[in-house]
Amino acid sequence: MAYLTLKGINKIYPNGFHAVHDFNLEIEKGEFIVFVGSSGCGKSTTLRMIAGLEDISKGELLINGEYANDKSPRDREIAMVFQSYALYPQMSVYDNLAFGLTLQGVDDEVIDEKVKHVAGILGLTDYLDRMPRALSGGQRQRVAVGRAIIRKVGIFLMDEPLSNLDAKQRVTMRAEIAQIHRQTGATTIYVTHDQTEAMTLADRIVIMRDGRIQQVGTPYELYFKPVNLFVAGFIGEPPMNFIRCKVHNGCVEIGGKKLDITKNLGSHAKAYEGKDIQFGFRPEAAVLGEQENAYVLQANVELTEMLGDNTNVYVNIGSKNAILKVNPHDTPATDSDIVFSIPVESTYLFDAETEMVITDEEPVKAAQ
Ligand code: ADP
Repeated sequence: MAYLTLKGINKIYPNGFHAVHDFNLEIEKGEFIVFVGSSGCGKSTTLRMIAGLEDISKGELLINGEYANDKSPRDREIAMVFQSYALYPQMSVYDNLAFGLTLQGVDDEVIDEKVKHVAGILGLTDYLDRMPRALSGGQRQRVAVGRAIIRKVGIFLMDEPLSNLDAKQRVTMRAEIAQIHRQTGATTIYVTHDQTEAMTLADRIVIMRDGRIQQVGTPYELYFKPVNLFVAGFIGEPPMNFIRCKVHNGCVEIGGKKLDITKNLGSHAKAYEGKDIQFGFRPEAAVLGEQENAYVLQANVELTEMLGDNTNVYVNIGSKNAILKVNPHDTPATDSDIVFSIPVESTYLFDAETEMVITDEEPVKAAQ
């Protein structure tokens, strides 16, 4: 059985705002789950319902198989790290780490052992006597994480824990959080709006939009098998290119080139005859020149950005814009006309109306 089960969870705030709709998810022990989505999509609300800091309006929360909707936060075996890490400023790092255990009346010797163990994991051993004001942002965040992991809890909840750090500290701390998870094996739910954090940390990602789950899957599944236009556009930087076009005789026309979409859809293409679809491909899927088993397009280069490891090429395909990621040694000249190919298996087609992906297989469900 799953360690944490969310069954048809809804949140309707007292002002009537329906912030979370029918959220279903099963989390296994030890998993690292990331809730990702734009600001306001309901990530924190869901996390706070799991923590017991918000009432669940409808649905069931099971922790370790037990109905937990009415359990107080203290009885849920949960520790939470917030965005603002709120350390006690007048206490040393040691005392900040020890505080929760002291309150619980744990033996001093046991506390000492645990504080030293956690400080070791977090690289804080040399800072135990320091006051929080004498620490960097990253070190303070580590103390906040340490305060949460020092208690033996079942579930570790983190709400945008890195958002107060600068870009460099975020990357370092991200790797540390992954390392801490490997060492502790604690079931973790992590909220972020940052797709890179989601992709790098998660065993499974839950992508949310307007209070609804869009897709649950491994980073690989979300990247390579997005179920809809939103997920396809959310994950990936620069984002996937989408070109809206109409299906006519099993083909679409993009920038003067006719593309036979039965290569993707087989006989399913018939269902889209006369309809609009979105033709999607990732910038890195484009290959300069003409290739076999690929859709070949022509474009005009508007602008190039040499980034070192690759070049982003902003092109105009007919009247549509797209970005291609190419080898910097092959950077085309601005204003030149180019031909490029997208391997058939690297293209994604979406129903322009429902925004769901279309394939030659049976339709995929939006959420599990
Ligand atoms: P996220 O964490 O994804 O940024 P939140 O879960 O914080 O989103 O918020 C989801 C939605 O619920 C937002 O539109 C927010 O304005 C709304 N919301 C949050 N708290 C309350 C509240 N106490 N009363 C009414 N609406 C709220």
